[in-house]
Order: sequence, then C-alpha cells, then structure tokens
Amino acid sequence: MTKPIDIRNPRTGKYDYVIVPPPPMLLTQLCNRLRRSQKSWQQLGLEGRIETLKQWKQAIISTQDKLTEALVADTGRLSISELEIGSFLSSIDRWCRLAPKLLQETQQHTSIPFIDLQQTAVPYPLVGVISPWNFPLLLSTIDTIPALLAGCAVIVKPSEITPRFMTPLLSAINAVPQLRDVLTFVEGGGETGAAIVENVDLVCFTGSVATGRKVGEKAAKLFIPAFLELGGKDPAIVLESADLELATSAILWGSVVNTGQSCLSIERIYVAETIFEEFVELLTLKAQRLQLAYPTVESGEIGPIISERQAAIINDHLLDAVEQGAIAHCGGKVEETGGGWWCRPTVLTEVNHAMKVMSEETFGPIMPIMPFSTVEEAINLANDTIYGLSAAVFAQDEAEAIAVAQYIDAGGISINDAALTALIYEGEKNSFKFSGLGGSRMGAAALTRFMRKKALLVKTKSIPDPWWFDAQ
Ligand code: NAD
Repeated sequence: MTKPIDIRNPRTGKYDYVIVPPPPMLLTQLCNRLRRSQKSWQQLGLEGRIETLKQWKQAIISTQDKLTEALVADTGRLSISELEIGSFLSSIDRWCRLAPKLLQETQQHTSIPFIDLQQTAVPYPLVGVISPWNFPLLLSTIDTIPALLAGCAVIVKPSEITPRFMTPLLSAINAVPQLRDVLTFVEGGGETGAAIVENVDLVCFTGSVATGRKVGEKAAKLFIPAFLELGGKDPAIVLESADLELATSAILWGSVVNTGQSCLSIERIYVAETIFEEFVELLTLKAQRLQLAYPTVESGEIGPIISERQAAIINDHLLDAVEQGAIAHCGGKVEETGGGWWCRPTVLTEVNHAMKVMSEETFGPIMPIMPFSTVEEAINLANDTIYGLSAAVFAQDEAEAIAVAQYIDAGGISINDAALTALIYEGEKNSFKFSGLGGSRMGAAALTRFMRKKALLVKTKSIPDPWWFDAQ
C-alpha cells in the first residue's frame, strides 16, 4: 500500500478528501496494459477514434453537473470551472474536425524519377501527461485529446492539489468501452509523476520550472521525448500612444483572472513614463471594483488561492516588495477568510527588478508597474528574466506594437490584448528560455508531435540503380 494523501479544500482550509496513489508495481502493470491496448486503438483508424471521442464527449455531458461540482470543490471557483468544461468539450470538437487533414498520409515523387515517397507517421505507444492544479481539467486534457487522436494510449496524473474532478471524468471514460482500455487518470503526487515518466514512451509535463527540469533530465536519461510547458513571468509593455481604457481593462483581466493563477498571467507591467500616473490611477480604480468570490462561489470575480504553498509565495513576494519600498495602491495582502487564503487585486508601484515580485513567478493577482523612458529600455526590462512564455504590447498603432513584439523573447505575444494564447489555438508557439522545451502544443504541431515520421521510399521501376556496384 502507498501512503494516502489528504487533500485541502481551498475555500474552507479543511482536509476533506483523500487520494491513494497506486503502488509502483500496479502503475507499471497499468502502463503495460495501456500499451498493449494501444495497438487496437491505432488499428481502429482515425475515423473510429474520432467516433470514440465523440462518445466520450456525450458521456461527459451526461456527468457535467458532477464534474462542475468536483471542480468547484477542487478550485473554489465556479465560472472558471464552467469555462474549463466548455473549453474542454469544444477542444474535442476542434481536434476531431482538424485531425483528418493534419494526419493525412501523403504520396509523392522524389528527386529521383524511379523512387516515390510515402510519408507516413507512427504514434508513440504510451503518452504520460502530468499536470498542475491551476486549471485541473483543461491542463490534464490539452495534450491528451490530440495524443489519443494521433493513436497513442494515454495515462494522466493530475495535481494532487486538485484531484476530485477525476472521479466524474473517469466514470465518463469507463462509459466508453473503446476508450477505457487506452485512457486512464491516476491519483498521486510527485512520486507517482516520477514513476509515470519511467513507464511511458513520451511525456507531456505542465508545471513549475523546478519539477520540469527533473522530468526533462529523467526523460533524457530514458531517451524519451519530453514536452515541457513551464512557468512564466509575462511582461506587458504599454507604449505612450496606447489606448489607456483598453490597456488597463486588458491588463487587469490578463493579470487577475483566475486570481492570477495562470502561467500566462501578466506579472510585470512597463508603462511609458508620460502616461504612467494616469495608467496607475485607472488600473487601480478598475482593480478596486473587483470583489472576492466570498461568501459564495457566485459572489465575485476573485476566487481563493487554490494552493496553500502558493499563498505563502504570494505573501512572501508582497512582504519583500513592501520592505524594499514598493507602494500598494489597492489590495496588498494575503488574508485568511473562512479558512481559505485570498488576495485582492493588488497594484504596486516603486518596484524594481531586485524584488521577488519582479523576478520570480508570483502566480497571484499582483500588478507591479514600472515606468520607462525609451522603448529600448522597455524591451530590455521585459527581457530581463529567466522566463519566456508570453507577453503583451499596447500601442494605438498596431504596427508600432508589433515592431516592439519582434524583440521580446517569448513564444506568444498579444497585441493590444492580454493572454490571448489561452484562447487562440491556431498559432504554433514555443516557450523561450526556462519556460519550456519541445514542440508547440498549439496549432498543427500539437497533434503531429505525438507521431514519429516514417518515410517509405518505394522503387517504382525494376532497373539497377546507377550507384550500385557493377558486380553482376
Ligand atoms: P509542480 O511542478 O509543483 O507540479 C506539477 C505536477 O508535477 C504535479 O502533478 C505534481 O504532482 C507533479 N510532480 C511533482 N514532482 C514530480 C516529479 N519529480 N516527477 C514528475 N512529476 C512530478 O507545479 P504546480 O505548482 O502544480 O503548478 C504551477 C506551475 O505550473 C507554475 O509554475 C505555472 O506557471 C506552471 N504552469 C505552466 C503552464 C504552461 O502551459 N506553460 C500552464 C499551467 C501552469
């Protein structure tokens, strides 16, 4: 038996749920079983797999109330849980629609007239998905759906901080016979995650840089591909010509939606010094209008901090900033209410890059703002980080903003908006620096990275090749 893990409720602080990780031997057996079943999943063909995923979607819809209830208990928030379910369901539709074109095998002539090329691809047998707590459903399925369509079997280990949603999701998986043999979710913490890496043929990891590094190193030793989607410290640059009404609304949303618990949250804001005061005033005004989602989940926009460890980090960053001279225009502290940890949207000025709030990932609703005098200075500040996930640039003239965006070291950049990479799936993007490694999880590559390309080179004429030995 493995040691059970007690799970905390983010709204009440009570430990009211328990998970029991599978013993290592059982996990290995489970992975072997999934790998064996993958062969028939692949043979089922794309049409059959699409049909099976559509059945899964219907099964999820039948258990949607239970799934919502579990996600609300996991995260303490309602509207974003509903949004997660909606996005998850529509992503099944989207990938089912796109897969036939993206996975098409091709046949063509080559540069040598009597050799043809059949370009095919073979799925990795078993994909392991390890995911974090901030969007439990979306981030445990974002790689799972394309991997299944590509023909892989998948084992998923969501975060031990938000495991309740697995029960209704598993019942929807078990309702679809062809799916339950090739897809499962397992409970567990870091040890189970590490054991998964050892038992799969490819790993998709979403989480912190520290854990991502461990996963990447282990995958390298095992010689399996690792797609790492890690933390960020996204900057927003607001140029002098920016529409302040638009920029403040977009940045407020991009920074504090989901209580700032998003990898692509805006965590640093650089504003042209000529508009700095007006920007701070307007952003503070708007931030003060947002309310805590307390006492009920329907109450306001700002849910509890889901992870107690994260609440301590946010608190530490705020204390460190204020100690070094930062000024909080609103919010400013992590408070305990009803047993949960909460933080109101916080606008900070008088900040600098020596402060943790400007250099480490905070993962909270904190908006530290620095003025800049030249565009070069703004770009240098934005790039002064170990992260490179995404960014935002604001300017009245979009060409001016795009010109600045070209110099920012990040994979996804929103122009005159924020955090658009969470909504737009078409564009491929890579993480820069320590924010990740491996192929894009957006765009066509999201699907094709689960296949190994195979070139079948076919001789079409029965003739001796001119480069053969002349030994007949
Ligand atoms: P985390 O790294 O602590 O945990 C992530 C997952 O890894 C969990 O399921 C955990 O159990 C597992 N794990 C822990 N140790 C492991 C090990 N040794 N081997 C394998 N798995 C192990 O991250 P977290 O606190 O759950 O999530 C927050 C982090 O995730 C933030 O840094 C955030 O920016 C990042 N994140 C990134 C993206 C993205 O797409 N880039 C999206 C969401 C969150």
